[in-house]
Amino acid sequence: MKQKSIEMLVQGASSLGITLEMFHVEHFQKFYSLLLEWNQKMNLTAITEEEEVVIKHFLDSLSVIKSGKIEGGEKVIDIGTGAGFPGIPLKMVFPKIRLTLLEASKKKVNFLNLLSQVLLFEGIEVIHGRAEELGKVERFREKFDIATARAVAPLNILLEYAVPFVRVGGHFIAMKGRDIEEVYQCKNALEELKCEIEDVIEVRLPFSDILHHLIVVKKVDVLPSKYPRREKAIRTKPL
Ligand code: SAM
Repeated sequence: MKQKSIEMLVQGASSLGITLEMFHVEHFQKFYSLLLEWNQKMNLTAITEEEEVVIKHFLDSLSVIKSGKIEGGEKVIDIGTGAGFPGIPLKMVFPKIRLTLLEASKKKVNFLNLLSQVLLFEGIEVIHGRAEELGKVERFREKFDIATARAVAPLNILLEYAVPFVRVGGHFIAMKGRDIEEVYQCKNALEELKCEIEDVIEVRLPFSDILHHLIVVKKVDVLPSKYPRREKAIRTKPL
């Protein structure tokens, strides 16, 4: 990566309260070059220009820290992680989190496995599968302190994908854009899934006028066993 992009990464992270060391920068550089290389054979990201990747992928992912819920050591699942966002950048700066990356596309899972090997991550698990199926599996159900998701589904649907993974008292952090109208349309989903919105945090991405929001959802009680429903019911009869 060019010097200017590296400076943007370091300064942008610093504005989020994160100090990046040289080895962090090297990890982000490796991530960027693998992303570009694999993007030639499969559709990993539409954003490829260096500074844009720094702002819209790397710094956007790190902005999850503004939720105040990640300090290191938590058990985190990133649902529909795609090429690893926001999970991989978070793991880079919080190496002690125990991270599960969940992704429905096998090709993307192959990329994520290679990436974890190249970056020599420990405490990372890549799972190929669909959230609404794995959320019923004992090993994953209500086992995580934190779930994250970016650009996966509208909030009422996303809640049914994500909340089953979160332990009672844990949090789901949904990364959303400028418009958060959907927050006002998920009252029923929140009630059914035994959770509540704890916070809505506005994030302005460094070096841009892009406004995003973190929707911080707290799981307050045990999830009824009928959730998550099957994919078709979730899509056609959203809560
Ligand atoms: N979170 C990444 C990001 O922000 O760059 C990827 C976003 S991409 C638009 C959505 C990803 O979610 C896709 O890779 C898709 O395969 C995955 N996905 C969609 N529905 C899913 C589900 N029910 N379970 C697991 N993965 C899912």
